[in-house]
Amino acid sequence: MKKILITGGAGFLGSHLSERLLNEGNEVICLDNYFTGSKNNILHLLGNPYFEAIRHDVIMPYFVEVDEIYNLACPASPIHYQYNPIKTTKTSVMGAINMLGLAKRINAKILQASTSEIYGDPLVHPQTENYWGNVNTIGPRSCYDEGKRCAETLFMDYHLQNEVAIKIIRIFNTYGPRMNPSDGRVVSNFIVQALKNEDITVFGEGLQTRSFQYVDDLVEGMIRMMNSRDDFIGPVNIGNPNEFTMIELAEAIIKLTNSKSKIIHLPLPKDDPTRRNPDISLAKKELNGWEPKIQLEEGLTKTISYFKELLKL
Ligand code: NAD
Ligand code: UDP
Repeated sequence: MKKILITGGAGFLGSHLSERLLNEGNEVICLDNYFTGSKNNILHLLGNPYFEAIRHDVIMPYFVEVDEIYNLACPASPIHYQYNPIKTTKTSVMGAINMLGLAKRINAKILQASTSEIYGDPLVHPQTENYWGNVNTIGPRSCYDEGKRCAETLFMDYHLQNEVAIKIIRIFNTYGPRMNPSDGRVVSNFIVQALKNEDITVFGEGLQTRSFQYVDDLVEGMIRMMNSRDDFIGPVNIGNPNEFTMIELAEAIIKLTNSKSKIIHLPLPKDDPTRRNPDISLAKKELNGWEPKIQLEEGLTKTISYFKELLKL
């Protein structure tokens, strides 16, 4: 049994990771300030004696003895990370410093949940890990993109300077049950709109692309990365390489929900990346042939069932 700290453990991804690690017989400490996460996401875990939920903000130091740390604390949806951009940068940067300092002190292995956003609006397609990205330093997305880029730098420097055992994964758009229905991300927005027969809000012409990964595939990749050989530290892309336009996504969701919704077009947000698609050859090679198993239709069907139940529709 390992003792594992998950920052952001009450969020969408953190709650799935907590559940899986508990099921595998580990002890999990979930650290969260509940900014975008919720106790509802972890209610079903609170009765487990090997699970502990602690209200704490990662911009402040925290001390605990654990074997591994998964650093997920950070709002992930554009409307939430842009709500208080200074706090978003602080969370990524000071959160990384605090968690890396802890890992160094207690000799724990630490994994950083980095993001495809570090590639910005990429000029290379699909994105490979050796692409340095195309990021605006002063735009509305910069607090998130640059915060996550700086966190990667800190991880690498703690590794090189202090021999901290690090792992960096770059997560591409991930969806599934327990997404916050009001955080504005495209999959949850479209599903909620379709279930309510409201207009589906496609931003811009809807020809921008994303590659959507179901949450269980990501959790599998995360755990394989944490357990990968010591000298493989990443960064490694973890995502589903099947790429869709937002119009294609809207049409798929309308079909799967039997919705009467119509597609409408709203202005495209500033700096919205045009295309995004992970090259996952490195993950396949280094993580025992890891690749996504759940494709869009199956994943959307599971997610739609969750939202139907949540919204009592
Ligand atoms: P989420 O917003 O549901 O979860 C983030 C969690 O971090 C929440 O529980 C929130 O309350 C907590 N948090 C935020 N600021 C904090 C702070 N200062 N101190 C303590 N806790 C704090 O988002 P998610 O989708 O679960 O994302 C989890 C991580 O994965 C994030 O770091 C995100 O950047 C990364 N990621 C997610 C995706 C995706 O598609 N879901 C893609 C790339 C990267
Ligand atoms: N998007 C959209 N309608 C919505 C929400 C988002 O068309 O109601 C678009 C958004 O402009 C972007 C894509 O969907 O091109 C993915 O947006 P999301 O916020 O989910 O993630 P990110 O932009 O961070 O990849």
